Amino acid sequence: VTHGKSSIGIDLGATNIKAALVSAGGRILIRGAMETSARGGPRVVADQIAALVTHLSATAPGERSRVRGVGVGCPGLVDSGVVRTPPNLAGWDEVPLQAMLESLLDLPVKIENDVNAVTLGELRHGAGRGYRDFVCITLGTGLGGGIVLGGKLYRGPIGSAGELGHVTIKYDGPRCRCGNRGCLERYVGAEYIMRRAADKIKAKWRNGEMAKRTETPTTQHRARRRIGSVSIDLTRLDKSQLGQLTVEIIGRAARAGDPIAIETLRETGELIGVGMASVVNILNPELIIVGGGVARAGRVLLDPIRQEIRRRAFPFPGRFVRVVRSALGDDAGVLGAATLV
Ligand SMILES: [Zn+2]
Repeated sequence: VTHGKSSIGIDLGATNIKAALVSAGGRILIRGAMETSARGGPRVVADQIAALVTHLSATAPGERSRVRGVGVGCPGLVDSGVVRTPPNLAGWDEVPLQAMLESLLDLPVKIENDVNAVTLGELRHGAGRGYRDFVCITLGTGLGGGIVLGGKLYRGPIGSAGELGHVTIKYDGPRCRCGNRGCLERYVGAEYIMRRAADKIKAKWRNGEMAKRTETPTTQHRARRRIGSVSIDLTRLDKSQLGQLTVEIIGRAARAGDPIAIETLRETGELIGVGMASVVNILNPELIIVGGGVARAGRVLLDPIRQEIRRRAFPFPGRFVRVVRSALGDDAGVLGAATLV
């Protein structure tokens, strides 16, 4: 039995559109998904979202009259129902997505930046429940951020607040897609995590050829036993498999004890911690919620974040802040979007 009206949450990404009918209490009642026709442009994508909404409403008998509205989480700068410059969606420079969807659907529609929506989801139903001041970061292609101050999402005057992935951690560092140099995201985005792991694997290959001659069978055996039989040994990947490496594989390998994966995620965590130490000094948050695929690695990633914050931030706010994993996981996007209405 659901109490109160349900709403539909849409997580619009460059590759997939995920949708869910969500109860007022934050329970997912039905799900739907579709590949994003990104090349078709905003019109086609709006039609896809409308089709998903119609499908979810129709497959929920008795629910249609009770759907309160549709919330959409969308990448890019989102303000007053208009989407501006979402990364990875070419041609979306000034799209009035909210008006487009309202003309297709007989329901109120609310649009918000995807990570802001996730942050609202964590505030309402997730790890941020009961907290008033926290930040939420999501690790994916880039590093997205959202800020809650005084129990409310802080958007800034034009909705661009919370771009925590673009905190500069190295003033003369590599160029970021935003135009700046040395942004945090430029070190901890999925592509860069994989690159770091691949470099370590290649170095191991090179050293391995020489080491084989000196290594005794005993140490080999001991190393393998520690890694365990169910684990993925990253150094055993061949050249063709190296191209298929994902952050999920690295996360899984780290949890199973793979030293290269652990080292890669430790470094990633330290770099995130460097950026978050500044955030802690600026905002004095109670919590930093870490979400996204890599966050599943757990302590391997979170401990170095905590350590680096303690090492760098002012002692009182640095010891005060708690670093926790997202409570909503893969559903954060649709659940967050559903809380918009
Ligand atoms: Zn940047």
